[in-house]
Amino acid sequence: MALKKLVAGNWKMHGLSSDLDEVRVIAAAAKDYPGVDVALCVPAILIERAARAVPGFAIGGQDVHHAEKGPHTGCTSARMLLDAGASLTIVGHSERRDAQRESDVEVKAKTQSALSVGLNVILCVGESLEARERGAALDTVSAQLDGSLPDTVDDKAELAIAYEPIWAIGTGKIPTIDEIRDMHAAIRARLRDRYAVAGAGVRILYGGSVKASNAAEIFAIADVDGALVGGASLKAADFIPIVAAAS
Ligand code: PEP
Repeated sequence: MALKKLVAGNWKMHGLSSDLDEVRVIAAAAKDYPGVDVALCVPAILIERAARAVPGFAIGGQDVHHAEKGPHTGCTSARMLLDAGASLTIVGHSERRDAQRESDVEVKAKTQSALSVGLNVILCVGESLEARERGAALDTVSAQLDGSLPDTVDDKAELAIAYEPIWAIGTGKIPTIDEIRDMHAAIRARLRDRYAVAGAGVRILYGGSVKASNAAEIFAIADVDGALVGGASLKAADFIPIVAAAS
């Protein structure tokens, strides 16, 4: 059975209060596509204002600390995200795995912390170009899943996996249709092994240079249950056609 598609924008380190109008435009336009779940993951400092600006629309964070509270200067806990109005968060984005040297163990702890307070989670995995070229893409992603998936999937909060080949992020390059299909099938098999029936309900998003011109083709691939969109989520004019393609 096809899962309802999720199209989530990742604004990364973009967005000032003057961009809240764009959030409003996106949230209003998304209402035309009730068959698609749409979300925007904005910088932490914008979450509260974005959530107030568009009640009922899903606003998320881009990272979360694994601890409930404590001496972690500059960090944001899951309960803080929730308190600010977020309903979801990204964890394990490759830009954080790389620049902040986040390990699978840490990504798992963050995921469990977010799920435990009722945030939905988009957990990112994906191989480097070097791993893809030496034929190790599937092994790399499998190892990331083994290390970072939560122990259980609880039905009060939802988990999605975003397959984002690092070499496709922000580059305009995307894997072939067969490469995406094979990877998503392998992730689905892993999820079923791990969570049995519940594994069939975990959405698997594709991320990496998704835009209006390639979205329909990507969404037609088996086990592609949506997209995580970076650059093309900043403007409604680029993002909403992707939502439309998912509908
Ligand atoms: C991302 O960083 O999550 C992403 C998918 O970026 P882009 O769409 O810009 O490649």
